[in-house]
Amino acid sequence: MSVVQPLLDLQEIDGRVRDLQQEIRDIPQRKAQEQERLNGAREALARAQAELKNAQMRVHEAELEVKARREKILSLKQNQVSLKTNKEFQIFNLEIAKIEGEIESYEARQIAAMDDVIPVKHKVAEADAKLKEEQAVVDGYVAELDARLAAVQAELATTETQRAEAAKSVDPKAMLYYERLRTKRWPVVVSLQPDGVCNGCHLVQPPSVGQMVRRNQGIVACQMCGRILYMI
Ligand SMILES: [Zn+2]
Repeated sequence: MSVVQPLLDLQEIDGRVRDLQQEIRDIPQRKAQEQERLNGAREALARAQAELKNAQMRVHEAELEVKARREKILSLKQNQVSLKTNKEFQIFNLEIAKIEGEIESYEARQIAAMDDVIPVKHKVAEADAKLKEEQAVVDGYVAELDARLAAVQAELATTETQRAEAAKSVDPKAMLYYERLRTKRWPVVVSLQPDGVCNGCHLVQPPSVGQMVRRNQGIVACQMCGRILYMI
């Protein structure tokens, strides 16, 4: 165990470094997922806002119809003054009366449209309040994740210092081997089972490998996966 123990100590620290690095990588994704939870509330608000816009447009359209007809009546009345015959005058009066009837109908439509706007406005206010409420919850989670990220980064810095210290106890050649393998295979140092099976790749080693591991005089690698072997 003496040859391998410093490597096992280093590997234990590296395991923590890997976990911390993984958590740091995952946090932005988790934050994005939190934000995505707001999509439903955002869409509901957008729908209500579109509905409100439509309802307001119907009011506006009726308003424009009324305005155009008022202008028409005004123009008819101005022209009426210069009319020569009583018959012509009557025709204009009929036309004006007809347009006034239309105005009444558009005004009724305008009022109805205005009535429609009120509940839709409530809907928008409700959707807006709901989004704000959910946003507050999400902001809380995101703040927690940011705090967690800062804590993990601090822990990683401490762990990396510990790693540098632990690396000093490892034989330089063993260190070189370990470092080369670390990015490809994890864990690098694994136990050899009493039946000669490598705990990394689960393949049986030749008896000579078991003997060398038992002798514990140097680094012994699995013949299949190259991991460093040790006996418990
Ligand atoms: Zn192996």
